Amino acid sequence: MPTFAELDLIEPLQRAVEAQGYETPTPIQIQAIPPLLEGRDVLGCAQTGTGKTAAFTLPVLQHITARPGPLKGRRVIRALVLTPTRELAAQIGDNVKAYGQFLHIDHTVIFGGVKQGSQVRLLQRGIDVLIATPGRLLDLINQGYVDLRHVEFFVLDEADRMLDMGFIHDVRRVLKLLPDKRQNLLFSATMPESIVTLAGSFLTRPVRVEVTPQATTVEKIEQSIMFCQRTDKRHLLAFLIKNRDVDSAIVFTRTKHGANRLVKQLAQDGIVGAAIHGNKSQTARTRALQAFKDGQIRILVATDIASRGIDVDGVSHVFNYDLPNEPESYVHRIGRTARAGKGGVAIGFCDESEGDYLRDIERLIGVEIPVDEDHTWHNGSFKPPPGRPLGRSSSRGNPRGGGGGGGGGGRRPGGGGGRGRGDRPSGGGGRSGGSRPAGGRSAEEVAAGGARPPRKRPASAEPRREGGGSTPASPGGDGKPRRRRRSSTGGGGSSDSEKKG
Ligand code: AMP
Repeated sequence: MPTFAELDLIEPLQRAVEAQGYETPTPIQIQAIPPLLEGRDVLGCAQTGTGKTAAFTLPVLQHITARPGPLKGRRVIRALVLTPTRELAAQIGDNVKAYGQFLHIDHTVIFGGVKQGSQVRLLQRGIDVLIATPGRLLDLINQGYVDLRHVEFFVLDEADRMLDMGFIHDVRRVLKLLPDKRQNLLFSATMPESIVTLAGSFLTRPVRVEVTPQATTVEKIEQSIMFCQRTDKRHLLAFLIKNRDVDSAIVFTRTKHGANRLVKQLAQDGIVGAAIHGNKSQTARTRALQAFKDGQIRILVATDIASRGIDVDGVSHVFNYDLPNEPESYVHRIGRTARAGKGGVAIGFCDESEGDYLRDIERLIGVEIPVDEDHTWHNGSFKPPPGRPLGRSSSRGNPRGGGGGGGGGGRRPGGGGGRGRGDRPSGGGGRSGGSRPAGGRSAEEVAAGGARPPRKRPASAEPRREGGGSTPASPGGDGKPRRRRRSSTGGGGSSDSEKKG
């Protein structure tokens, strides 16, 4: 296992990763850093949690430090990182700050949903690295506050999510404004054909790197389903929070309104919680998430889309108060628990209208989720009969990609087959026989899409060891980072991503 020094990172960067408590580079870092330092374009298939941010940030910082800037005495934007959500943007900003702490590099983060004044002021002061969501970036470009003519490094982060969120045209617009001579990086959790096409449009002979984390997360989570009427869900939730050793929980609702309502209902039952979703101001979201991280509130009620942004260790329970209509969301949601080597509990509530969603989820994860009848509100008649064909269910209407056939194939494939949002067989293609497993994606594949890594712990929390208390391992072949200790984080990150940048 190489060290950061053996990856030829300069001393200030080695010191910075050391200060973060990183012992060894993660697999994606081992693969990506050398070609990036050589100046190659890189196409990376890695999800959040694999250490991908450091994989692209460290080489970019090293290059910027090594080469003189184009305009003497004035900072210009030399690296642009485009990312789909403000939470990701904030997290990348935190990382750039941490990794660049011993270098003379200035950066700023711009995203929508907040006033632009302070962002503009920072831009006017001059920065080397800009992290941006597409909407706000184009907005500020149009107003003349951002000049991309000196960009030497362009990073497109979470490209699949970018496309999912409808940012493709914005991305193309940004690409047109970049100088021809530059180094490009594209990172995506999945590689459907659309991403391969996009990558082909601006990467030059990229080195392909990928990690396929093991299926640890899903397997470590104790999952169950409870059938009950929609109107009983709030009582069931309050009961479970009070009676099932819930240290801290994230409760997922389908709508923002539902999240707000649930917080009020829980309060009536004497349970304090906070809601985070896209209608809340950025400040309110950051505050709620910080209070949750600090343990001041035990219950966070979040909308579905927020699940990607929530990165908190020590969440004992995830409640799928409403089952997600996109089965992948289930995996992302439950991945909020069982982090950092711990176990976790994921309980889904299934009401009279959600049988199809449950069936889709079970098909995706390849197992039948055990039913927990041990509560007053149980109503088994909502369970979908096993042989029923899997018809529509995903509410978004458009069939997913098709074409892939059978759902098997190489994971994180080279050429765009395999897994990923765009690749699941549509309709009944995946498997035969009507009953559970087989066909769909294996638990490994699913977990690969859902597993997330340990994040930094709040300063107030006990540092926690990974892997059951012994000295934490170095990257364990599961693609996930291991760190010696966790430092506190300035936060900045919150969650949710319903608003476009
Ligand atoms: P990312 O995939 O960039 O979101 O990173 C996931 C988490 O892993 C972040 O909390 C990073 O601080 C952490 N991390 C990144 N690289 C390493 C490493 N080499 N060792 C330990 N932790 C790391």
